[in-house]
Amino acid sequence: MSIVVAKFGGTSVADYTAMSRCADIIIANPNTRIVVVSASSGVTNLLVELTQAQLDDERRQQLLKQIASIQYQILDQLGRPAEVAAQLDGVLSRIAMLSESLSRERCKATMDELLAQGEQCSAALFAAVLREKGEAASAFDVRQVMRTDSHFGRAEPQIEQVAALCAAHLAPLLAEQRIVTQGFIGADAQGATTTLGRGGSDYSAALLAEALKASAVEIWTDVAGIYTTDPRLAPNAQPIAEISFNEAAEMATFGAKVLHPATILPAVRQKIQVFVGSSKEPERGGTWIRHQVSDEPIYRAVAVRRDQTLLNLHSLQMLHAQGFLAETFATLARHKISVDLITTSEVNVSLTLDKTGSDSAGNNLLSEALLQELSQHCRVRVEDNLALVAIVGNKIASTPGVCRRVFEVLEPHNVRMICQGASPHNLCVLVAESEAAQVVRSLHENLFEGAR
Ligand code: ADP
Ligand code: ASP
Ligand code: MG
Repeated sequence: MSIVVAKFGGTSVADYTAMSRCADIIIANPNTRIVVVSASSGVTNLLVELTQAQLDDERRQQLLKQIASIQYQILDQLGRPAEVAAQLDGVLSRIAMLSESLSRERCKATMDELLAQGEQCSAALFAAVLREKGEAASAFDVRQVMRTDSHFGRAEPQIEQVAALCAAHLAPLLAEQRIVTQGFIGADAQGATTTLGRGGSDYSAALLAEALKASAVEIWTDVAGIYTTDPRLAPNAQPIAEISFNEAAEMATFGAKVLHPATILPAVRQKIQVFVGSSKEPERGGTWIRHQVSDEPIYRAVAVRRDQTLLNLHSLQMLHAQGFLAETFATLARHKISVDLITTSEVNVSLTLDKTGSDSAGNNLLSEALLQELSQHCRVRVEDNLALVAIVGNKIASTPGVCRRVFEVLEPHNVRMICQGASPHNLCVLVAESEAAQVVRSLHENLFEGAR
């Protein structure tokens, strides 16, 4: 059987009407055997707030009420099936209990357990919506198969074990019914709940598709595909019909929120094509991400990633010496910091770090301990409130005139850092957060809306 994995993001499962629309998309394709859902829109943000330290009891009660109200509205429209109602009651009291416990003791494992509850609710509710429409469907706890390491907040899936567990526990269920399961969450070898980082449901879908050797992954969201830039930023952004894995991966890495950055990896490993479309307007079609595409333009898209931190390290040790970078990167690796961009000079090295994708609870990865460790062998300066704007395309590093066109647009802005050349697919500039939207709009206008 050719299996399709379909993932529905937060807005697609925001309420009963949205879920019902998604159910129709699923029913239209008998090959869609696995449905991966995110938490209903807003729920993960409310759960993140519940994990925060200084939370007074009044606010906690408000947050619990808001979550309950989102989920019970869906349940009510379903006619309150007893089994799902009991499940939901269980999850909601668990949320209250976990947030209580976090107010006494900060524990990363408890935070992940709490954050995972949004997906639990939507999977139970969504399976019930499918059943209401006469489909054979059950909710399946993805923690049985999504084995990860124990890096709470940003856990790494253990690919081989996920494949083995899926073959044993998930594949046999698919012939008889459609399975609805949770995105974003997993479990470590001890059975503790983990999360894959914010936006991780796309990644979950791709991982399950890889494990089950699916023929396609569908990412159903609130836009009709991948656009030449975020359509919320530039109203003239154009949908892209077909895009290569390389280009899509660069876009996701550099902030096109429509895809979680790791989504493409499993798809590339198994050569699974990925579709991105709007669950509200499926008839508008969307974007196919494929291994090979017919058109590979120089300029494909402009992406922006906010909340960037620039780390500037200065050390005379760097002068005609070896090992400084190795030492620096070893320190960063020990603190599980992944570096994005890097530029060096004689005695300085500048690195950018991504705060947004840091971990599911939004914890800042640049800890005091790390800064102290780095300060032992260099002078450290940290700059915040920066945004990374990336021009994504093909043959960027080998096409004359690209820089002129880009820098023409950047003329009125202060560019804090530039990276180009490592990949043929991007040119990145770091600018002040406050100027990012204008930079994106101007670049989009010049590269996509004018004559090429
Ligand atoms: P979901 O909840 O379905 O996962 P997300 O909010 O994570 O949805 O991603 C969809 C959003 O991504 C869109 O609403 C859009 O604002 C944003 N986005 C950013 N860059 C792009 C792009 N290049 N093309 C399409 N959408 C983009
Ligand atoms: N619910 C999670 C989040 O909001 C995961 C996802 O939506 O992909 O980040
Ligand atoms: Mg998303």
